Amino acid sequence: IIYTMTATYYGKGQTNEQILPAAEMDFASQVETALANQQFFLVYQPQVDFNTGKLKGVEALLRWRHPEKGIISPEKFIRVAELTGLIVPLGKWVMRTACMQAAQWNHDPVLGKIELSVNVSALQLKSGTLVEDILQILDESGLAPHRLVVELTESAFVQDDGDNARIMHRLKEAGIQLAIDDFGTGYSCLSYLRDIPGDYLKVDRSFVMELPGHNKAQAVIRAIVSLGKSLDYRIIAEGIETQAQAEFLKEIGCDIAQGFLFAKPLEPQALLQWVALRQNAES
Ligand code: C2E
Ligand code: MG
Ligand code: MG
Ligand code: MG
Repeated sequence: IIYTMTATYYGKGQTNEQILPAAEMDFASQVETALANQQFFLVYQPQVDFNTGKLKGVEALLRWRHPEKGIISPEKFIRVAELTGLIVPLGKWVMRTACMQAAQWNHDPVLGKIELSVNVSALQLKSGTLVEDILQILDESGLAPHRLVVELTESAFVQDDGDNARIMHRLKEAGIQLAIDDFGTGYSCLSYLRDIPGDYLKVDRSFVMELPGHNKAQAVIRAIVSLGKSLDYRIIAEGIETQAQAEFLKEIGCDIAQGFLFAKPLEPQALLQWVALRQNAES
């Protein structure tokens, strides 16, 4: 519903005022100011290979350092950014900042080899220049395309007239990888899994939270993992908080672990320290 509404609002050239209630309008203009005033920053959450224990990648996650309210979570402002179309410049800022940061790590023995995951909103696909924007950013930053993973939620695949799938194929042709985020939430139509060139499937935290849980919760997550694997996806489990969850997920064949048990999202300096600490522990 949100997507149709936004598309209509652009199509007819309506103004923000006609759609958003006053409080959200005010919030939207704060988001715009925040972008101009560099109040956004990124944190990076490690993703660890279940089998080797090695760092496989990091997911860039957006934060807003609000001058009065402190640090605001993306859950509080992404929706308004989407409704107003601000997600397009904001998403581009995220992509550029994350790729620049990852490229700065190019010479680090550990961080120079890992993958960088960036969340992209389905609405950014509609902006028309997403592929060109990403290619330009990769070129400017010097980050190799295969090291970038674009994370898209299921809505981008389910509510698709074919345009989104074409964009995904173009990203794929450029060597960029794709992850289906929050898998298993909200939609039951799975046919898109055959048709899109996805590399990773991220099992949503809501499933992981239920573990170790009862037999039925386990059966659902087993089915998700086995479906994904039989379609050649690598499986990432997100939101792992306990050792018991990690053991179960490893046992049923998940490839990659992400969650507070391993690390919280970290600012670049803290990520470097996290990597160094783990290396010391190994040697
Ligand atoms: P997501 O892409 O599914 O990201 C994973 C979220 O789970 C992150 O929340 C992360 O901090 C949280 N998480 C990871 N491990 C654990 C855990 O063990 N326990 C708990 N309780 N939480 C864990 P965050 O950073 O608040 O982001 C929320 C959502 O906001 C993201 O979900 C994503 O959908 C969206 N988002 C974040 N950054 C961006 C962005 O740059 N662009 C867009 N379009 N969306 C973003
Ligand atoms: Mg994500
Ligand atoms: Mg997710
Ligand atoms: Mg999620």
